[in-house]
Amino acid sequence: MPVKIALVGRPNVGKSTLFNRLAGKRLALVDDTPGVTRDRREGEGALGDLSFTIIDTPGLEEAPEAALEGRMRKQTDAAVMEADACLLLIDARAGVTPLDKTFAGLLRESGKPVILLANKAEGSAGEAGFYDAYALGVGEPIAISAEHGEGMGELYNALEPFI
Ligand code: GDP
Ligand code: MG
Repeated sequence: MPVKIALVGRPNVGKSTLFNRLAGKRLALVDDTPGVTRDRREGEGALGDLSFTIIDTPGLEEAPEAALEGRMRKQTDAAVMEADACLLLIDARAGVTPLDKTFAGLLRESGKPVILLANKAEGSAGEAGFYDAYALGVGEPIAISAEHGEGMGELYNALEPFI
């Protein structure tokens, strides 16, 4: 059975972009609009010589603000429960948001291993967000760019012990 890795984080941080990069196929829907309904996707991921199953978690349905968090939490909980390790993504350009803290708390409670990824870190635009990410309490962030393929060597080193 391949190891299962779940992509976790609030909408628009780049989960599906990373999924597509690791799965090597355009299986996940990438959308600029937070609030688009998307199914959960599972695919065969690879990074160098590492093979694993990768689980993308979906966006949200349009719903009143108050309903969003509960819905996301349910979908994320299911993926996290199945996973052997989780990749928590934040948008380093946007910095740490309250919703990022919610997801980090959920992962801490799960007891699953977490690899924290500060995405959209190409160039130096994400530097402040990268340092803020330490405050999430899930370890050292790794700066990546899912879109441009940067930081994949560091991600490899972080993933290797779990595979
Ligand atoms: P998800 O909602 O977390 O699945 O996020 P998506 O993968 O759908 O990406 C949301 C938006 O962020 C899209 O416009 C992506 O093109 C963009 N994006 C994803 N990764 C990167 C990145 O590394 N750098 C930049 N600048 N944009 C990114
Ligand atoms: Mg997505």
